[in-house]
Amino acid sequence: MNWCKSTLLNLYYAGTLYARKRAMAGHIQSGRMPIIVLFYHRVANKYPNNWTINTRTFAAQMAWLKKRFDLVPLSEAQRRIASGANRQPTVSITFDDGYADNCSYALPLLFQENIPFTYFVTTDFLFKHRPFPHDVAAGQPLEPNTPEQIQELADLGADIGAHTRTHANLGAITEPEQLRDELISGKRALEDFLGKFIRYFAFPFGCHKNLTPEAFRMAHEAGYEGVCSAYGGYNFPGDDPYHLQRIHGDPEWIRFKNWMTIDPRKLQSIIRYDSYGTSTR
Ligand SMILES: [Zn+2]
Repeated sequence: MNWCKSTLLNLYYAGTLYARKRAMAGHIQSGRMPIIVLFYHRVANKYPNNWTINTRTFAAQMAWLKKRFDLVPLSEAQRRIASGANRQPTVSITFDDGYADNCSYALPLLFQENIPFTYFVTTDFLFKHRPFPHDVAAGQPLEPNTPEQIQELADLGADIGAHTRTHANLGAITEPEQLRDELISGKRALEDFLGKFIRYFAFPFGCHKNLTPEAFRMAHEAGYEGVCSAYGGYNFPGDDPYHLQRIHGDPEWIRFKNWMTIDPRKLQSIIRYDSYGTSTR
């Protein structure tokens, strides 16, 4: 983020902090406390890029969250959304894609701190151990996780989720067979490999244009218990718990804190899709 934008956001944050604290107290009292689901990609100090956060900032974010929020698995996040009333500040942690670097620092830290997480992997890159095309294009073919690492994570109790077979933009797929292949074959391949039911799916890219009613319908049909987007957005008690809106675990502290303390502007501007991929307002 450039200096000017960062300064403006700092001013906005400081100027609205008192109102946010009052609003949060109101949410807690009325049982309208939102349930936040965060997504990360890669935690590492080498080869920084837009989808990497360094180990120090990641550790600091986890410590900051642990002091202020219940850190819960996605199933508990869904239960709190479905219950219709939530008074506990709540966060779930997720990761997308499956980068080998996460095994060096971030995931051991989460296990050590007893922080549950869901780890979404893209099966072609996992099983063929090939770097992602976007990393190759950027000149840095970062290493994906190995199947053995994912097996170990699952054995240690991590929740493994599906993130398609080829990291396709599902919003651009019109062929039902191709959609089925991305949504369902990745899930089945993981289930066969791990011998475990795969409960959750995360849409690659995760913006509104990457989500379609057809993909949501197929996710239901495939037996997923929930799907995650990534366009930003809070989940309020009483919302449809099948679709979990996620927020980026932003390496920029001011942007991270701005989201976590519930930016009133975000409440107005974000269009929520329900569990069938249609706008609810
Ligand atoms: Zn992804």
